[in-house]
Amino acid sequence: MKKSIQAIRGMNDIIPTLTTIWQHIEGVLRQVLETYGYQEIRLPLLEKTDLFSRSIGEVTDIVEKEMFTFMDRNGDSLTLRPEGTAGCVRAGIENGLFYNQIQRLWYIGPMFRHERPQQGRYRQFHQIGAEAYGLAGPDIDAEMILMTARFWQKLGLNDLELQINSLGSADARVAYREQLVNYFSEQMNRLDADSQRRLHTNPLRILDSKNPEMQGLIEAAPQLLEHLDEESQEHFVALKQLLDQTNITYRVNPRLVRGLDYYNRTVFEWVTQQLGAQGTVCAGGRYDTLVEQLGGKRPTPAMGFAMGIERLVLLLSQNELPIPNNAPHAYLIMMGNEAVQQGFRLAESLRDTLPQLRLLTHCGGGSLKNQFKRADKSGAKIAIVLGENEIASRQVTLKYLRDNQAQTLIAQSELANYLKSLEFGNEVIGN
Ligand code: ATP
Ligand code: MG
Repeated sequence: MKKSIQAIRGMNDIIPTLTTIWQHIEGVLRQVLETYGYQEIRLPLLEKTDLFSRSIGEVTDIVEKEMFTFMDRNGDSLTLRPEGTAGCVRAGIENGLFYNQIQRLWYIGPMFRHERPQQGRYRQFHQIGAEAYGLAGPDIDAEMILMTARFWQKLGLNDLELQINSLGSADARVAYREQLVNYFSEQMNRLDADSQRRLHTNPLRILDSKNPEMQGLIEAAPQLLEHLDEESQEHFVALKQLLDQTNITYRVNPRLVRGLDYYNRTVFEWVTQQLGAQGTVCAGGRYDTLVEQLGGKRPTPAMGFAMGIERLVLLLSQNELPIPNNAPHAYLIMMGNEAVQQGFRLAESLRDTLPQLRLLTHCGGGSLKNQFKRADKSGAKIAIVLGENEIASRQVTLKYLRDNQAQTLIAQSELANYLKSLEFGNEVIGN
């Protein structure tokens, strides 16, 4: 026997029993995004490697050790996208989307990072993200945060904590960086290997360390919030005011720095205690200089966030939150060739009149018992039975598969109306 080929480590299949919950999450988020006026953008999975090293930053986890990078047949270095923002900025510049325009965009799709797979951390994972271009003020920051809060409300998630911080301007960060280097240099022997390496290349990254032994040192480090430039300070105050106005609870976390270099001013994360070290469900911030850094002709302020769909799926499953049932409403059982002929006509006419009806027609013949077994397994609420007698009388027998209701005979011409009058959970079929 040949050995079967298995999926690549950290890359998961999402099988039908799981797609229900994925579709539910995607549907809810898509709807909220649309109601806030965001438009979908679809981008390639592969980009030139330079795009990511120039935007995310050379000295970041992603670029240093997590990218799936390879030479293509022409000898060009390509990378499977580890995140969506860089590609979105590239596409915006290339398609002239930023010229004199305000853009509110969103995207969904797989991202790739070569990390150690564990619960909530995979090598192919999926993000839904949004980006807004051409707006420099704190209002758009607040809008995005409010929109994410609405995601959780619509999904029924209520244990997420909002953390916000400001990284200030690039200049303020240069000054702060020096302070950090001084502080950590004095504690050299307490730094882990990663942090020692980063001390001079990217000291802010040390604050993002997940090493528990480093936390004390990080807690006591000088805080960027105390060294903000005046404009960033005002921006942050105005953002907090807007959040207060709209009754969003948040915590200022002065040690919140993001794992990517392009952020400035506002950064935020939504964090749960339920997923251990993989607790960040959604993260984002401003990146006002990235468009120019990637070759855009004009300054284009920007703000965005992305969330990991796998982590949302885990949260919804762990909390057993209700998701819509997409089992068929009805299962059509047909006994014999004549019944199949009539049954197919009947099924198509039902589909014409009841576009919402989820009707499974039995295929493959077999005994009545066998067909009922399949009907039951499908999760359908009723079985519509067409046998010899029903054909002769132009009727169908309706059998209720989930509750104790007596079976009924009903004229085929009345079937659509009858189904329409039924309640399937609180779903209404028909118009
Ligand atoms: P983490 O600190 O968990 O590694 P990150 O800072 O690298 O996250 P971002 O680049 O900001 O994450 O990505 C935004 C979101 O995408 C994260 O908050 C998380 O929900 C999700 N995410 C990131 N990496 C992974 C991964 N390897 N597997 C699953 N989800 C991920
Ligand atoms: Mg990461």
